[in-house]
Amino acid sequence: MSEAKIYDVPREWAEEAYVDNARYQAMYEASISDPEAFWGEHGKRIGWFEPYTRVKNTRFEPDVSIRWYEDGTTNVAWNCVDRHVAEHGDRTAIIWEGDDPSESRHISYRELASEVQRFANVLKGEGVKKGDRVTIYLPMIPEAAFAMLACARIGAVHSIVFGGFSPDSLAGRITDCGSTVVITADEGLRGGKRVPLKANVDAALAKVGGVSSVVVVKRTGAPVAMATGRDHFYADLAANVSDECPCEEMAAEDPLFILYTSGSTGKPKGVLHTTAGYLVYAAMTHQYVFDYRAGDIYWCTADVGWVTGHSYIVYGPLCNGATTLMFEGVPNYPSVSRFWEVIDKHQVTIFYTAPTAIRALMGAGEEAVKKTSRASLRLLGSVGEPINPEAWEWYHRVVGDHRCPIVDTWWQTETGGILISPLPGATRLKPGSATRPFFGVRPEIVDAEGNVLEGACEGNLVIADSWPGQMRTVYGDHQRFFDTYFSAYKGKYFTGDGCRRDEDGYYWITGRVDDVINVSGHRMGTAEVESALVAHELVSEAAVVGYPHDLKGQGIYAYVTLMAGSSGDETLRKELVGWVRREIGPIASPDLIQFAPGLPKTRSGKIMRRILRKIAEDDFGSLGDISTLADPTVVEDLIANRQNKP
Ligand code: ATP
Ligand code: MG
Repeated sequence: MSEAKIYDVPREWAEEAYVDNARYQAMYEASISDPEAFWGEHGKRIGWFEPYTRVKNTRFEPDVSIRWYEDGTTNVAWNCVDRHVAEHGDRTAIIWEGDDPSESRHISYRELASEVQRFANVLKGEGVKKGDRVTIYLPMIPEAAFAMLACARIGAVHSIVFGGFSPDSLAGRITDCGSTVVITADEGLRGGKRVPLKANVDAALAKVGGVSSVVVVKRTGAPVAMATGRDHFYADLAANVSDECPCEEMAAEDPLFILYTSGSTGKPKGVLHTTAGYLVYAAMTHQYVFDYRAGDIYWCTADVGWVTGHSYIVYGPLCNGATTLMFEGVPNYPSVSRFWEVIDKHQVTIFYTAPTAIRALMGAGEEAVKKTSRASLRLLGSVGEPINPEAWEWYHRVVGDHRCPIVDTWWQTETGGILISPLPGATRLKPGSATRPFFGVRPEIVDAEGNVLEGACEGNLVIADSWPGQMRTVYGDHQRFFDTYFSAYKGKYFTGDGCRRDEDGYYWITGRVDDVINVSGHRMGTAEVESALVAHELVSEAAVVGYPHDLKGQGIYAYVTLMAGSSGDETLRKELVGWVRREIGPIASPDLIQFAPGLPKTRSGKIMRRILRKIAEDDFGSLGDISTLADPTVVEDLIANRQNKP
C-alpha cells in the first residue's frame, strides 16, 4: 500500500504537552530498563492507606502469577471521589447528557461523594459484603457510575453487562460469576427507543438462581413487575440510608471488577481486574495519552458496559479529578449531528470514540459536521478496531479541522488500559498506525514458531513483560487464563492480534490473527484489504474474510456496504476489484464481492468476522451464538445473497 502520510507534532503540542519526544524516549527507556523503579515512582500517583514496599512480582511461566504493589492497601472509590472533595468539591465530576437533547445534568465531586456513599449503604443493606459479586445491568445514567464506585467502596466486585445484551447473555454472566445482587433500571432509553431492562432481568432470573435482590433505578418511570421480597426500587432503599459510608481498606490485589469480553471470537471470558495496579495504569494512561489537565472537558463515547467505559469514562478520569461526560444516547439521534452538537453544548476539549462511529458518520456527509463549531476540541481519540487511513483523514480534516492530533489507542479488555498509542506532544502520526508503546510496555512481534522478529516485520503481537493494568485471571478458571494467553509463546502474553512494525518502529495492528488470510502463500491482514475498499468513494464499510479456494488455498471474500443512495452492480464490482488491485496489488484482489446493506456487529460495533467467515465458507449450519449481535436479522440477508461466482 502506498506509504502513509506523516503528521508532525504541532509546535504548541511539543512545547506544552506533558511529554515531548525526547521526554518520551527517556521515560520509555527508564520504564523498560528498571520497571521496579519506574512503577515504584508512578504508583505514588494514587493515595494509599498502607504504602507498598514491593512493586512488581510477576511471571508468565511456567505458570502465570501477576501481582503489583502487593503489600499496599488503598480504595478505588476513595481515590476517584473522596480525595478530590477536599481540594475541588465544586468541580463537575460527571456531565450527564441524556438521550433527549433537552436533558443534561452536572454532578460535582461533592455530590458524587454523597451519591456513591448512599448507594454503598443501599448495597450493604441488601447484604453485599467485601468480595461479593454484583451484576450491573444499567443504561448510561449517572447511577451506573455511582453503582460501580459504591461496589469499589465496600469491596464488592462488579460485573457490568451491557444494557443491549439479551436475557440469555445476562443469565450466563450472572451464573458465571455467582452474583447475588443485580442492579438494573425500569427501562433504558437509546435513540428515542425504550429498552426493557427490568423485563430482561426477570427473564434472565427465570433461568438462573442465586440472586436474592434486584435493585431497580427508575429511568423512564414505566410500570414494571416487582417480585415481592426480591425487587426494590432504588429510591425507596436510598431514602432509608445515610450518605456516609466508610471506605473498605483493600489490598492492592483484591478484585475490583469482572468484565466479559465482547465475544467476537467465541465464548466470552470473565476478565478479572484488581485494585491498585489497574487504577495506577488507567489514571496514568488517561493523563498522558489524552494529555489531560484540569479544565479539560473530556468525553469518551463508549458504554460503561465495555472496558473503555470502565477505564476511560469512570476510573481513569475520576482518579485524575477530571470532568467526564457520560452520554446516554446514540450518534444519530435525533440527527447525525448529535456528537458535534454535544461537543459544542458542553465545550468538550477531548473526544474519544470508535472507528465504527466515525465511518457511519462519515457516510452521513460533511455538512452535518461542518454546521457545528467544535472550536473547543483540542484532541481526538480512536479505539476498538484498526482505523482505516480514510476514516482517520476524515476525522482529522472534517471533525478536527486539521487542528487536533488523533491518538489511535490499541488495547484490550485484558490489558486494562492503553498499551500502544501516540502521545500527542511526542509522536508524529501516521494514519492507521497505533504508533508506539506506552511506558512499561514491551511489544514484540513473533512468527508462528515464536521466533522474535527484528526491525520492520509482520507477525503476531505479544507483550514480553507485565504492566500494572494487566488482567490477573479468567474468573474461576485460572487454567483458561494460562492456556489462552501464555501457552502459545513461552513467557509472553499473546494478544491474539496480528501486527506489522515499520522501519520507524511504529506498530500497525492488522486485525486478529484469526483474520489473517493466506492467499497463494501470501499472508495478508484483512484490515488492509478493508481499508483499501473503504477508500473508494462509494464504499461506506467493508469486511473481508478468507474462504477455501481450489487454486489459492484461500480466496478473498469481501462484504461491502455502500454509501447511502448507491447501489451495487457488476460494473461497480469490477471497479472495486480493479481498485484494490491498484491500491495494494493483484494478490489482494477480492475473488468475491457481496454487496450487503448491513454487517453483523457486536453491540460494541465490532464486525463479527467469524459469522462472515462461516457464510463465505458456505457453512450456514454452524454460525454459533448470534444472540450478542446488535441486529441478528442482517444474517439472513447475508445468507440469502451469498456470492458463488466472481
Ligand atoms: P473477544 O476477545 O471476546 O473476541 P474483543 O477482542 O472484541 O472480544 P475487546 O477487548 O473489547 O474485545 O477488544 C480488543 C480488540 O480490539 C483488540 O485485540 C484489537 O483486535 C481491537 N482493537 C482495539 N483497539 C484497536 C486499535 N486502536 N487498533 C486496532 N485494533 C484495535
Ligand atoms: Mg479479544
